[in-house]
Amino acid sequence: MKSAIVLGAGMVGVSSALALQDRGWSVTLIDRKQPGLETSYGNAGIIQSEVVEPYAMPRSIRELADIVLGRTNDVHYSFRELPAHLGSLARYWWHSQSRRHQAISLTWAGLIAHAASGHEDLIKRANAGNLIRRSGYRVLYRSKPALEEAITHAEQLASAHALDFRTLTPDEVAAAEPALILGGVGAIHWLGPWSSSDPGKLASSYADLFVGAGGTFVHGKAETLKRNASGRGWVVQTESGPIEAENVVVALGPWSPTLLRLFGHRFSMVRKRGYHAHYSSPEPLRVPMMDVANGYVMAPMALGTRVTTGAHLARPDTSADPVQLARAEISARQLMALGERVEEQPWMGTRPCMPDMLPVIGQSQRQAGLWMNFGHGHQGLTLGPVTGELLASVMSGQSTVVDSGPFRPGRY
Ligand SMILES: Cc1cc2nc3c(=O)[nH]c(=O)nc-3n(C[C@H](O)[C@H](O)[C@H](O)COP(=O)(O)OP(=O)(O)OC[C@H]3O[C@@H](n4cnc5c(N)ncnc54)[C@H](O)[C@@H]3O)c2cc1C
Repeated sequence: MKSAIVLGAGMVGVSSALALQDRGWSVTLIDRKQPGLETSYGNAGIIQSEVVEPYAMPRSIRELADIVLGRTNDVHYSFRELPAHLGSLARYWWHSQSRRHQAISLTWAGLIAHAASGHEDLIKRANAGNLIRRSGYRVLYRSKPALEEAITHAEQLASAHALDFRTLTPDEVAAAEPALILGGVGAIHWLGPWSSSDPGKLASSYADLFVGAGGTFVHGKAETLKRNASGRGWVVQTESGPIEAENVVVALGPWSPTLLRLFGHRFSMVRKRGYHAHYSSPEPLRVPMMDVANGYVMAPMALGTRVTTGAHLARPDTSADPVQLARAEISARQLMALGERVEEQPWMGTRPCMPDMLPVIGQSQRQAGLWMNFGHGHQGLTLGPVTGELLASVMSGQSTVVDSGPFRPGRY
């Protein structure tokens, strides 16, 4: 029986472990925490079948000026830290050029097309249907030109990728979401996406499925990863002692590049930190909603209304600077009775974004038996199951649902 250690029990690691287990592998899943407590916990919870193009870096002078001058709540940065991000941002800029972005989007859309069916299978098997809403996701606009531009773009995407959406007038927004005080100038309701009332619990229920089917989950430290005595496999120190396997999968989300440095890999990552807070809204929204003009998403969650922010370009060691959350809260209070904050401190976590916007999936070109599955950026909750399947198929020498070539680690 082939064996693997999977490092990282977020949505990506758990899904990878399950996909290998389904192919008859003996798998040990290792994390320093319980499954699904980091990035896979704190996101907006949307399984985004409508995101058929990954988020490109803005390239127009107007958008860049808005970021530099702090006129948008989408992006926050500090001048002092900027030099640390310039290398990865320069690569991101290059890949975001229109023709390159179109080519990347073709590859990306291939993955996204299989994302919901990957979840569907796991939701059924994990009996996690109670954590899922299948009622779409709304994007609210506060200016007519922005809404018109978005409708044109949505029509193009919908006809190219067979997506369903409806345009809502302010009255229709109000009827659909009784919690709202204002309906902006209208909204786009994407009908395909699903959302979870507790994305961390969704990941942990998939982990329970893995353990229930005979897999092992154990606490351990990824940084203890070494070659084993024979030199042909790997060993990791865990609370249950050393665990050995022929193969290891690095699925540590934003922490992956740090570990991989120990093995000679230098991955550049655009570290887009996000914050969230929950609010005790007396009447919650029915489906998640983005307030585009103010750069945040409000999502009805088990703990209350979760307000999640855009990107703060932050090194891992910098302290919290949740100015975007403070601004988002002011804007959200114009839209609905948000209620009191549930937690004292906001949550923060990092979207692990690669400069070419595609995840890293495949075997190291330097170390036999070292595999990777990380860098899912803004859509790792969505893409966990399909990329777990893709990796497990490659590791098992099987045909893959999409071409794995564009995701190979060696492209860097
Ligand atoms: C604000 C925000 C909103 C988002 N909204 C959405 C959304 O609506 N839809 C969507 O699809 N995606 C969304 N995302 C992106 C998504 O959350 C991530 O892409 C995804 O969670 C990444 O999953 P992962 O398994 O790769 O990483 P993680 O969930 O971070 O898992 C990595 C695991 O590695 C473990 N680990 C790290 N270091 C070590 C170590 N040294 N030893 C042992 N274990 C270690 C951690 O404990 C963790 O469990 C959002 C992200 C943010 C920040």
